[in-house]
Amino acid sequence: MKRALISTYYKNNIEKLVSVLIENRYEIISTGNTAKYLESQGFEVVKVEDVTEFPEILNGRVKTLHPKIHGGILARDIEEDRKTLKQLNIKKIDFVYVNLYPFEEKLKENLDIKELIEYIDIGGPTLIRAAAKSFENTIILTDPEDMDLIIKNIEDLNYEIRRYLAAKAFNLTAHYDSIISSYFNNLLKIEFPKYITLPLKKKSELRYGENPHQKAVYYENTTEEGFFSNFEQLNGKELSYNNFKDIDVAWKIVNEFEEKVCCAIKHQTPCGVASGRDNLEAFKRVYECDPISIFGGIVAFNHKVTAETAKEMKKIFLEVIIAPEFEEEAVNILKKKKNLRILKVKEKPHQKFEYVSVDGGVLVQERDTKLFKSLKIVTEEPIAEYLMEDMIFAFKVVKHAKSNAIVVSKEKMAKGIGSGQPNRIWAAIDALDRAKDGVVLASDAFFPFNDVVKKAGEYKIKAIIQPGGSIRDEDSIKVAKELGISMVFTNMRHFKH
Ligand code: 5GP
Repeated sequence: MKRALISTYYKNNIEKLVSVLIENRYEIISTGNTAKYLESQGFEVVKVEDVTEFPEILNGRVKTLHPKIHGGILARDIEEDRKTLKQLNIKKIDFVYVNLYPFEEKLKENLDIKELIEYIDIGGPTLIRAAAKSFENTIILTDPEDMDLIIKNIEDLNYEIRRYLAAKAFNLTAHYDSIISSYFNNLLKIEFPKYITLPLKKKSELRYGENPHQKAVYYENTTEEGFFSNFEQLNGKELSYNNFKDIDVAWKIVNEFEEKVCCAIKHQTPCGVASGRDNLEAFKRVYECDPISIFGGIVAFNHKVTAETAKEMKKIFLEVIIAPEFEEEAVNILKKKKNLRILKVKEKPHQKFEYVSVDGGVLVQERDTKLFKSLKIVTEEPIAEYLMEDMIFAFKVVKHAKSNAIVVSKEKMAKGIGSGQPNRIWAAIDALDRAKDGVVLASDAFFPFNDVVKKAGEYKIKAIIQPGGSIRDEDSIKVAKELGISMVFTNMRHFKH
């Protein structure tokens, strides 16, 4: 006779497995409530207490933590261990199925620490880890999705299956502990812990990665709210790998602004950002920023999308439209395009840290959530209010463009966005040439030379906003004064690589 230990928090779905085990001559051993449940379903069950000859104590904190259980799981198939088991009257345990206290779910209920720690399962992970270590002799089931595999192969649960189930088991306990660890780190505000324990869970298999020959998956942080855990997709194909990255940037850009704005993104780079008195105007101005690049792009709004804007957007090929709200009619219009992804996103960005992988490790940094330290006019004349506002608008956009980045804007319409250039003057030439008639120019980092200011002069730029801080700041300020360009220093750089 073989023995199976069943100890589950959620009892549903265990009947079928238990029947198959009993049919295959397993004796069932169970903890308190699991035993009660199985008995109520008409199964014959041996209580753990009768195996250990020790009661469950401390309100369930200690149930299976006993040598009669762990000896039975961990014993090797060797003479020495067989002898030990016999001497101490310990019976071998051949099969373990556990599901753990739902710490993760309880975490979402905002319980206080005293209540919450009661959902830290101790005996469960110990059973799982013991059985997984002992996989050659003990089968460990943790994922209900593997139940069919077990049932199908119940007569021959071979080495490969056992080892696979052990891998799943350790994967689960590592994740389980990562949730608990993150909870404590967050509670104590430990921002850069010794070990990264992000509780990431496979959310969706993506069709492919950045390119069709690269496999990819989306893992979701199960303990943190983010807009990808909370959006509603109203239409279109499932999100692609590149969509995720572009949407992330698009949504972060529009959330920089209080006023109504729209932005268009291609390859994580804005190709137009504009404000508007209403939704339609914001979109029309974004389109005007760059009517070429917007093709196949991603469009985001920080306000409600109206039916009349939907009609306009329907005329061009877009991949994704993102907004916090849509008029019902707008959705109906856009739905005519079967593949167009429409996302209703409620959450503001609240990601605190960014993770970037490099070969052999991961870099972690705080997300760039600030804009400027101070606004200091470094030229002589005072600056008109409207220019100041336009400069801040442009600076918010340049913050999200890849470095080196220059943004040229007019009336809160970022028409010229030069980005991803290995030197600043090329980014400036690109931005100025695209914008043609911009009024303000924003730079993501300081000017190492005065060449950008000279170029800005050629294009009749009236005001420049930049972090400042170069040893040659004076050169740039001097040229600005000569050309009658106002200049503001923000004292905060926004590299984005
Ligand atoms: P039951 O509902 O059957 O009384 O308990 C089942 C739950 O207890 C399972 O979620 C299992 O992981 C957990 N468990 C099993 N043994 C122990 C133990 O010794 N201590 C604690 N804290 N939990 C255990």
